[in-house]
Amino acid sequence: MHPNKHHNQHVPNLPLAVHKGLSLIICAITFFYSLWNLVYLKLYLLASVELIIVSFSLFFFIQALKNQDKEWQHYTLVGMITVLVLLTPLQGDIRAGSLYWSILLPFVYFMMFGSRGGLILSLLLVFPVLYIIYTKTTHEGFLPYRAMVNYTLAHFCVWCLCYVYESQHQKDNLRLRNMALEDSLTGLKNRYALDAAFEHIDQHNIKAFMLLIDIDHFKAINDKFGHDIGNQILIEMADNLQMYANEEDVYRLGGEEFIIILSEKCEQEIYSTAESLRCFIENTLFHQHDLRLQLTISVGISRFLPGQSLSDFLRSADHNLYLAKQQGRNKVNHTLF
Ligand code: GH3
Ligand code: MG
Ligand code: MG
Repeated sequence: MHPNKHHNQHVPNLPLAVHKGLSLIICAITFFYSLWNLVYLKLYLLASVELIIVSFSLFFFIQALKNQDKEWQHYTLVGMITVLVLLTPLQGDIRAGSLYWSILLPFVYFMMFGSRGGLILSLLLVFPVLYIIYTKTTHEGFLPYRAMVNYTLAHFCVWCLCYVYESQHQKDNLRLRNMALEDSLTGLKNRYALDAAFEHIDQHNIKAFMLLIDIDHFKAINDKFGHDIGNQILIEMADNLQMYANEEDVYRLGGEEFIIILSEKCEQEIYSTAESLRCFIENTLFHQHDLRLQLTISVGISRFLPGQSLSDFLRSADHNLYLAKQQGRNKVNHTLF
């Protein structure tokens, strides 16, 4: 299961935020320039392109406001900005300095498309800009070769800074995300990670089973040996559970309750896995300092039924866990077959 791959539409991300702001700014600035080019400079082709860009960016902004923006709109907006920045000095007078806007583009590329996309697009941008400097500048007003060197070096600096910033930003994001989904005591995934995994199961209608595992008489361990030993036992239990399932599929729900989500198995295999896990824990000695403790677990199993919520899925496992406790603990209870 790969819940992390699942994109949560309700969480705003950097490209979405940048897209929203950028489409509004581009709409306003381009509208101003289009009027100027139309009325004052009489650059009709440029003004028409600008008016098209104004309409598109306004549409994109409204869509983004309604959280209905699409990926193609992100690409189109960035493409339009690039065309605008390159077309303006080509159509107009380069002495007006419109080419200075090109220095903004690497920032936009990195923020919208991450470090890899940003790196490639920024590199590609250098060539048309150098072409414009070379063909549009004259020896009277400019020193074309020195201007090209200056542009290339300035662009290279922006490029490096953006790359360092964006790479670090992506690493930090990943670290924070992992921290938010991880149980701090055992390092297992936590309840939020379970929510994400369930969303994946639900959307793809995966045949999934839940093993709800509860340590028997854990309160007595805490009372007898103290909370710290209790914590160490929980860590050891987490390690043991991970031996029985894919590390990705084990969760700590809270307290001394754990969950294993199993998929792509038949009912009989699920029951056998739970039963052998129960047996394994019963026969494992938990080592804490000079203590050797024997523990047992009770397990309730539920099967995911299409249309069920996570609470329903949990409730059904919890009911079976309750029955396992009622039957005297150290039991697996299910309603699979
Ligand atoms: P049962 O067999 O019915 O499950 O009995 P139990 O004692 O395991 O269950 P109960 O729900 O009565 O007690 C759970 C205990 O787990 C109570 C609490 O002290 C302990 N506990 C919950 N979270 C933690 C934790 O993070 N660390 C430690 N050390 N103990 C915890
Ligand atoms: Mg409990
Ligand atoms: Mg318990």
